[in-house]
Amino acid sequence: MGGLNPQESNINSSPTDMPSALDPVEFRRQGHMMVDFIADYYQNIEKYPVLSQVEPGYLRKCLPESAPANPEPIESILQDVQNHIVPGLTHWQSPSFFAYFASNVSIAGFLGELLCTGFNVVGFSWVSSPAVTELESIVMDWLGNLLTLPKSFLFSGNGGGVIHGSTCEAIICTMVAARDQMLRQIGLDNMQKLVVYGSDQTHSALQKACQIVGINPNNFRVIKTTKSTSFALSPECLKLAISSDVEAGLVPLFLCATVGTTATAAVDPLDSLCQVAKYYGIWVHVDAAYAGSACICPEFRHFIDGVEGANSFSLNAHKWLFTALDCCCVWVKDPSTLTSSLSTNPEYLRNKATDSKQVVDYKDWQIALSRRFRAMKLWLVLKSYGSVNLRNFLRSHVKMATLFEELVSTDRRFEVVVPRVFSLVCFRVSPSAAIIISDDEINVENRIDEVNRKLLEGINASGHAFMTHAVVGGMYVIRCAIGVTLTEEKHIAMAWKLVQEHADAILMKNNI
Ligand code: PLP
Repeated sequence: MGGLNPQESNINSSPTDMPSALDPVEFRRQGHMMVDFIADYYQNIEKYPVLSQVEPGYLRKCLPESAPANPEPIESILQDVQNHIVPGLTHWQSPSFFAYFASNVSIAGFLGELLCTGFNVVGFSWVSSPAVTELESIVMDWLGNLLTLPKSFLFSGNGGGVIHGSTCEAIICTMVAARDQMLRQIGLDNMQKLVVYGSDQTHSALQKACQIVGINPNNFRVIKTTKSTSFALSPECLKLAISSDVEAGLVPLFLCATVGTTATAAVDPLDSLCQVAKYYGIWVHVDAAYAGSACICPEFRHFIDGVEGANSFSLNAHKWLFTALDCCCVWVKDPSTLTSSLSTNPEYLRNKATDSKQVVDYKDWQIALSRRFRAMKLWLVLKSYGSVNLRNFLRSHVKMATLFEELVSTDRRFEVVVPRVFSLVCFRVSPSAAIIISDDEINVENRIDEVNRKLLEGINASGHAFMTHAVVGGMYVIRCAIGVTLTEEKHIAMAWKLVQEHADAILMKNNI
């Protein structure tokens, strides 16, 4: 048994001396300090290197080995945050953050999160906090309407929406629903015959889902895409893969189509893919994690044309809809497929409302039992900005991406690798910019990849911007993904100047 720490000064204090962990006066005082701290962080955010420059293990060297026995004042805790935590942050909300896809936020997103945590209610079933369930159903219909999703995906049709934490969860849950629906028809013994389809551009969330759901690893089809289709999944290739599986006695189960792939924001042609899938009775999930939000703008809505043929659709409002992490919006046409797979009904959760079957119990639409009041932040975002402002925010990002694309195109040393669709520009120093003397084409490509890799490293090490890369069609490309709330045109101009300066240095040094 461990002994008592002699430094614990409060050991003998009576319970009446103990501070309240929820004293309203202290909450107000400390809460105001925290809001000021965050506001100051945003005011100064451009002073920090966008990509954290710390070395692995840096924090252990700064913090004590064990938790304090005695309380510390909020002032000194915030000092620790400033001194030790902020240096280890990569500043995702910096206006010069162009990496991955943004995870953007807004005042309304923060305040909604604050209310969610402030109430700290747990909404697993309707009765456990009716407003959690009812607001979630309402905002999912609101957002579904802004996307002009078919009525069949909305509660006002026979479908419905739920907020998950991530796309990974959305794909796991929909794949489980598809699996069980199929196994009810063909028998449990056929589990090993089920086949899942995606493309070589589909997010690794699909592979993870297959691993968790128990799909035979030999039955995960990754269909190759090419530059000729801008890396979109070809319905013909899908059809070939499926018919070959059917001939082999396998059972096609699930297709994950993507609107806005992670590498290049490619858009899979939903209409034709859903037609192929329908013929074979395959469940189609549409992963629009990043680009789905843009589809609330009428001019981008056509990218999800054909969604009426899908079974489920998801987007991450925490990526490009100004709602703080985590908020993955998932719609299904037939909620009973989800609930048949995910329902449990233990005695300790039984209640009249559930028994009446008149209410939604969201615990049966997701993996976990407990769930946060995430709808609060999405509701605040939709109410505070209205669809008019939200559309304009999204358009401003696309406009800035168009500007970046134009800047790249005007410098003959660079090429835009795939035509930009949303707010992601994929570019590289082009092979023609480099006089690489070699008879060997593969060697030329390797050398140009090396040049681009060095270029990206230089940009990120500068701390003035952060971009990431992808490899598509065998090419190493640099991704400039625009979507942070604070980004303005001047940051795009600065980022491009940075790219050019680093390219000058590298191309000169390599004498190419
Ligand atoms: N799908 C796409 C197209 C993505 O770009 C991403 C992440 O960037 C994901 C899925 C994974 O999302 P999550 O982290 O919510 O699981």
